[in-house]
Parts: sequence; C-alpha cells; structure tokens
Amino acid sequence: MSNKIDLLIDGKDVPAQAGATFERRNPITNEVASVAAAASVADANAAADAAAKAFPEWAAMSPNARRTLLLKAADAVAAATPRFIELMMAETGATGGWGGFNAMLASSMLREAASMTTQINGEIIPSDKTECISMAIRQPAGVCLGIAPWNAPVILGTRALAMPLACGNTVILKASELCPGVHRLIGECLNSAGLPPGVVNVVTNAPKDAAAVVAALIKHPAVRRVNFTGSTGVGRIIAGLCAQELKPVILELGGKAPLVILDDADLDEAVNAAAFGAYMNQGQICMSTERIIADNKIGDSFAAKLAAKAKSLPVGDPTKGNVVLGSMISEEAAKKIDELVADAVSKGAILVCGGKRTGTIMEATLLDKVTPAMRIYAEESFGPVVCIMRVNGVEEAVASANDTEYGLSAAVHGKDIARAFSVAKRIKSGICHVNGPTVQDEAQMPFGGTKASGYGRFGGKAAINEFTELRWITIETGHVHYPF
Ligand code: NAD
Repeated sequence: MSNKIDLLIDGKDVPAQAGATFERRNPITNEVASVAAAASVADANAAADAAAKAFPEWAAMSPNARRTLLLKAADAVAAATPRFIELMMAETGATGGWGGFNAMLASSMLREAASMTTQINGEIIPSDKTECISMAIRQPAGVCLGIAPWNAPVILGTRALAMPLACGNTVILKASELCPGVHRLIGECLNSAGLPPGVVNVVTNAPKDAAAVVAALIKHPAVRRVNFTGSTGVGRIIAGLCAQELKPVILELGGKAPLVILDDADLDEAVNAAAFGAYMNQGQICMSTERIIADNKIGDSFAAKLAAKAKSLPVGDPTKGNVVLGSMISEEAAKKIDELVADAVSKGAILVCGGKRTGTIMEATLLDKVTPAMRIYAEESFGPVVCIMRVNGVEEAVASANDTEYGLSAAVHGKDIARAFSVAKRIKSGICHVNGPTVQDEAQMPFGGTKASGYGRFGGKAAINEFTELRWITIETGHVHYPF
C-alpha cells in the first residue's frame, strides 16, 4: 500500500492548492511507494509565509526552551526509526541497516543542535572610544530554506533544519522528489515534538516543478539563508539564484573521494576501509570512495584482497533478506554505471570483479588500472563501482588525489603517521581521515567541501556562523565627542 503525503504548512497537513499529486515508485518493484502533494509556486509561497509568521516567537524563545523541544524532536526521530526504514526501503531501495543508521545520526544531529542553543556566543570588542561598549552579537537570520537529496535522506533532511532551528530560525524543507515520504516524516517528528506551528514546513513537489518551486522559495523576501545538498550541476543553479537575491547559501555538492594507500599501509585495514567506503549504500554517498590511489609496491596484493572482499558481499532486494548492497535509486543510475564501466574497459581498465546487475541491483564492482583517458576517472559515479589508480611514491599519490574538480572527503592509509598526516594536509578537500574510511559523519564535526564540492560548513559550532547574522552593536555610556 502506498503512502499518502500532504504538505506541512503552518503545523497542518495540507494538500497542494490545486490538488495536484505525484508518485514515487519503488526502484526495485516499480510499485507506487508514495503519492505526494505536488506543490505549486503558490504553495511554496504559503510555506514561506507561514515560516515568516512563526519567526518572531521562535527567535525570541529562550535557549533552554528551544533546547527542550529539539531534544523531544530527537527522541521523536529515534522512535520513528522503523517507519523511516520502511519508507527508505520503499522509496529508495536502501538496506534496513542504512535506514537505521540514518535515523540514529539524524537524531544525534538534533541532540547536538539542542546542545548548541546556549553556545551562540558574541564578544565584547575593545573600542578606541573609552566610554563605548562595543559588541558583536549573533542573531537569528530569518527563514532558512533547506534543500536535501534522497541518498541519506533522514540525515540530510534533518541536517538542513537542525542547526538553523537551534539558531532561532524557522525553516522550510524542500523535499527530494525521490523520497517525499521520508522527508515529510522528518517534519512530522519535529511537529509532534511541539515546535510551534509554522516553525517547520515541508514542501514536496513533482520533478517538473522543481526549478519553479525552488526559484520562488529563494526569491521569497522572508527567506534569508539557503542550504542545498545535492549535485554540483544543480548546486551551480542554486548558487546563481542566491547570488541574484544576494542571499548566503551553503552548498554541499558532489564528490570523487580518493583513498590513498601508501606503501606502508596495513592492507587488511585499508581493504576494510575501501570496501566500506566504496559499497556502503551502493556507493551513493557524497563521501563514497570513488578513487583508490595505491602505491605500486602494494597495488597487486591490495587489489587481490579488495576483490576477495567485494565478491563476498551479499547483494539483493533488501526486503527479501539481509544484504550489504541493495538497490540503486533508478534504472538510469544503473545504466550510467554500465556505461562508465564499459568505457573504462574499452580503454584498457581491468574489470577485477562485479559489473553484473539485475535491474537496479548491482554487484560490488572493482576496476583496476584506471587512467585519465576514461570517463570514470573524473565523473562522479554515485554507484557501487570503485577504481584503482596506481602510483609510485608520495608525490605521485598527492598529485593523483588532487587531480579532480571535487574536494569533499579523502583518506590516507600508512603506518608512518607523520608521513600519512603530511599527505592528508596536502590533499585539497574539506575532510580527510588518516587510517579510516572516506565515509564518516558525526553531528558535531565541521562537514563540508571545497572546489566543485561546494562551500560552507554544517555541524556543531561551525554551523552557527552560517545560520546567524553577526551584528556590531554599540552603547555609548558617556559624552560622545564629534568633530563638528
Ligand atoms: P540533485 O542535484 O539532482 O537534486 C537535489 C535537489 O535539487 C532536489 O530537491 C531537486 O528538486 C532540486 N532540483 C533539481 N533540478 C533543479 C533545478 N533546475 N533548479 C532548482 N532545483 C532543482 O541531487 P540528487 O540526485 O538528489 O543527489 C545526489 C547528489 O548529491 C550527488 O552528486 C551527491 O554527491 C550529492 N550529495 C552531496 C552531499 C554533501 O554533503 N556534499 C551529501 C549527499 C549527496
């Protein structure tokens, strides 16, 4: 049975004004998973109006009162874990394990945001005028628009809202067309926790209306901050729209994460990190390991060990049994992987294992000896395929790691920690892990990228800068001297 999803505007479940709906189908069975309200520009504006109306009360609420509600929301998200898992399986073909992890980290993000409500500090800055108290204070910015994708839907939908709310802003979540039910359930959890009506609004839209709905929301005068997590292509459009409106935006975009294996790496640890980073959620994570840069001294043994691990990973329909790799988001996504693999093999890459698929379900796939002539060297695959590039020594490894337009996550493996750390410092990415996987996230960490992976930081204290207005306010306590 499919889920019926209304918009969440001003604390109420409402259909789209024109009564329009759209379907999201299960990527494995093609059955209708959800029938969701298809918002128009008028609906989007109604959501922004509701958020604007709710802003003064929420912004004025004491930090401890806001904290209490955000902690209740964290509990509500955790309690809804089974529903999140069910909806993620139906709408995105994800495994139950990924769904459970999503709900757990999303709940943790709300807890972290709750803990930040009393950390929105200002400062007193010494003034050259002796009788002037000069301060920098942070105030809520206004309505924040969050646009989130489908691949880690509970985490990224919650991330788009949690710190903006903690900072005293009201929010609109523009849901992904590919998981309207999951994103709408985040709104339900926050609403049920007792956040006042209009503080959290969720807009779902048909794919054909995405550009108009997003443009209207960015243009709405009450919207003062935008955060977008999604592809680099759409990120450039969002950046342009925000530039036109002179509105600050955080862009969390695509990636092509390198995992550098130095010649002294512990190969078993590196193989585990590589398999997890490459195949978790079928490689559909912005931090997914897409490029393994292996020193030639250990390249052959590393490739053999990783192939053995990849072949051992169970693949299939997650609703029918315990699997590590479930479904990709769509047949088109699966076809793109076929094309990238065929192109690489035609240009000399070795298909070490995998490459076969049934519909949207594909085996863990490993390509060795990938070169810059192949499409997959540069393009984000966003699927269960990883490439090995061979290098000689540290200098070539660093050059190869940086030979990409992207710069989100990275990792370096080596037993000489000083050498591995010096490599980590030279990689141009927002995030880098020594002797760990490229895929890692914790609510309190500064998360974000550089280059074509975007700009701005979510997570803990770093996000306070993004979602508040820093103001300079002075108080004259005595006679003020003027030159005339
Ligand atoms: P996407 O860019 O296709 O879609 C994201 C959103 O953009 C959707 O809500 C959609 O409605 C909207 N959109 C689409 N066309 C638009 C247009 N013309 N104008 C305005 N809005 C439009 O991304 P996706 O496929 O949902 O997500 C996958 C991508 O997200 C991958 O590239 C992945 O690397 C990236 N991602 C990044 C992070 C990060 O934190 N950096 C996290 C997860 C995913």
